[in-house]
Amino acid sequence: MISEENYKVKILRKVIDIINPIYVMEGAGVRLRRSIATQKLDYLDPFLLFDHFGSDDPNDYLAGFPMHPHRGIETVTYILDGLVNHKDSMGNSGILGKDDVQWMTSGSGIIHEEMPKPYKGKMEGFQLWVNLPAKLKMTTPRYQEVKSSQIPEIHRKDGVVVKIIAGEMESVEGAVTEIFADPEYLDVIIPAGSSFEQPIKRGHTAFAYVFEGEGIFGDFELNSLGEGTVVPATKLVIFGDGNYVRAKSDQIPVRFLLISGKPLNEPIARYGPFVMNTSDEIEQALRDLQNDNFVK
Ligand code: MN
Repeated sequence: MISEENYKVKILRKVIDIINPIYVMEGAGVRLRRSIATQKLDYLDPFLLFDHFGSDDPNDYLAGFPMHPHRGIETVTYILDGLVNHKDSMGNSGILGKDDVQWMTSGSGIIHEEMPKPYKGKMEGFQLWVNLPAKLKMTTPRYQEVKSSQIPEIHRKDGVVVKIIAGEMESVEGAVTEIFADPEYLDVIIPAGSSFEQPIKRGHTAFAYVFEGEGIFGDFELNSLGEGTVVPATKLVIFGDGNYVRAKSDQIPVRFLLISGKPLNEPIARYGPFVMNTSDEIEQALRDLQNDNFVK
């Protein structure tokens, strides 16, 4: 059988939903904007959670995320401004600064602390949770810590700037590799009046998170799904299937994250920072924590 891919037919990914983040309190009292892991959008397989933190008021984040466990997932932290001090049960510690990325594979379990601090009065960033397949839920924990200088950047003649955190664009490979979900994580800036296209594998889940300015996504024609309408910050745009996405700006620039990954299609049982496949596995995680046997 010859697939559409073989014919190099371009199939545009249309906008299928636009999500307004909601404010939630997390950790020891951090006020943040959540778009995935809400009543409206519990799970966007393989993405379990998407949070946007940051505020001009340090009271919104200084309490931070003191020591807490994770099992069965990956957490991806991308800092736009400010600092995050972190340390964990494996003896790692460090500071994430502006434009740094930490891709943490919790696997069988880590206990860590993440404490945001302002830098020159500013603090802003994102955390994404990526699910692990059943066969890797109990894998050995791992960190990929990427400094801003290690993140490849593409500067196009038309002014489009893309940071390739994971995935690939114009044959340039991203900084984070060897992640099961085969993720793409791009930070895209389109100046006023320009456009952008990017191939995304068929069958992968894909979304854009608009966090500065405003853009137009998908089909560009006005329709009931919200295509053709201007999407202002801050919103999450979910794409349907296809093999590429496109976006453009009009009067003002737009900046967004473009994130995609391979869905797992496995059952999930989630309880706070643990995401497993069955409720028995969640109970085991709680027992391990209680018996001081959580970190393997
Ligand atoms: Mn954490």
